[in-house]
Amino acid sequence: MSEPLVDARRQLADAVKILGYDDGVYANLAAPRRELTVSIPLRRDDGTTEVLTGYRVQHNYSRGPAKGGLRYAPNVDLDEVRALAMWMTWKCALLGVPYGGAKGGVTIDPRNYSRAELERVTRRYTSEILPLIGPMQDIPAPDIGTDEQTMAWMMDTYSVNSGHTVLGVVTGKPISLGGSQGRASATSRGVVHIALQAMSHLHLAPSESTAAVQGFGKVGRGSARFLAEAGVKVLAVSDQYGGVHDPAGLDVPALEQHVDETGSVVGFGGAEAIDNEALLELEVDVLVPAAVEGVIHRGNASRINARLIVEGANGPTTAEADEILAGRGVTVAPDILANAGGVIVSYFEWVQANQAYWWSQEEVEARLADRMIGAWRDVLSYAQRQGLTLRTAATCLAVERVASAHAMRGLYP
Ligand code: NAD
Repeated sequence: MSEPLVDARRQLADAVKILGYDDGVYANLAAPRRELTVSIPLRRDDGTTEVLTGYRVQHNYSRGPAKGGLRYAPNVDLDEVRALAMWMTWKCALLGVPYGGAKGGVTIDPRNYSRAELERVTRRYTSEILPLIGPMQDIPAPDIGTDEQTMAWMMDTYSVNSGHTVLGVVTGKPISLGGSQGRASATSRGVVHIALQAMSHLHLAPSESTAAVQGFGKVGRGSARFLAEAGVKVLAVSDQYGGVHDPAGLDVPALEQHVDETGSVVGFGGAEAIDNEALLELEVDVLVPAAVEGVIHRGNASRINARLIVEGANGPTTAEADEILAGRGVTVAPDILANAGGVIVSYFEWVQANQAYWWSQEEVEARLADRMIGAWRDVLSYAQRQGLTLRTAATCLAVERVASAHAMRGLYP
């Protein structure tokens, strides 16, 4: 079993024990309801054929349709998708969004494929998982390596097969195709709502605080921007090619322009180079891992200098690292809370698409802030009442809601 899945099941087991449930509840929630592995034959631009592998896992749908991102990355495997699907179930339950959890992935490095090839991969993958998805069944969204264009191709493929346009089948679509105002920035806005709440709890004033952000994609980039806008000095950021560090604080808008021009943060003028490992160990108040799983682990947890970790990525901290960090008094705002802004506005997008009635950016952002801050308060007060870490408190709250939905529905047959 891969590490993310071991950790996800361990978090579930801890919550089940704290909540006093029996082994049957654990068994029911540890196993995904459905999983599908598909082959994706791809005709490359040079005329050769290659066969890729894709997955869709629906961890749970007792509270509503399954919901979760689609990842294109070279190390995607079934266990990783299973772990990510489970975390989606907890995230939706924690935020009171009426969905279960799902996740999809294709084992591919999208950098090595043309746009036309990626379109063929997406359309064939969508066709293969067609029986599982739908606005009332399972609603994909972007994740690592996918974007609003990917969602537009998925929506089109599903709609062509349905004989009519089905806007509610995916979220994270372009605004021109039924996307929601504020969806593109929702995850990072949510990360920063939680960061600011946690900082206030820890008596860290934004204007006197520093941050480092790992990952400069859909989540990391906005997190750096909104932290800087809140007055926090962003000292370092990185992507898969390397990182940049300026002890005086990076000029984030200028950095964004550099990334638009070059495709990477590397080489940004006036800043020193820093690698991804060193970035995690910088002397900062707030660390936002917003790239991949498992970057904070047994090997480096004792060298993390941040006072607060806000998990933009899913699963960036291993269970072993969690224990070390808790022992050292480092506060971790867990992924299922901190990066939930994306699924909240995905839910808003789905509601809007199903009603064909769209909201303003202000309405979306106000409702997003309400839900994020409300969930932060729920998790913090549960953690304080029960003497738990924020992650264990968040997982308990979520597992309790899912288990209660199961109990009320009963077992069929
Ligand atoms: P993305 O593909 O837009 O960006 C990923 C970023 O991470 C890129 O800058 C990439 O260069 C960098 N990266 C990749 N591998 C790396 C490595 N090994 N070391 C350092 N940097 C690396 O993806 P994203 O949507 O920003 O997703 C990032 C994380 O956030 C993932 O864990 C994802 O599951 C999670 N997440 C995303 C959303 C969303 O709405 N997009 C919502 C919730 C959680």
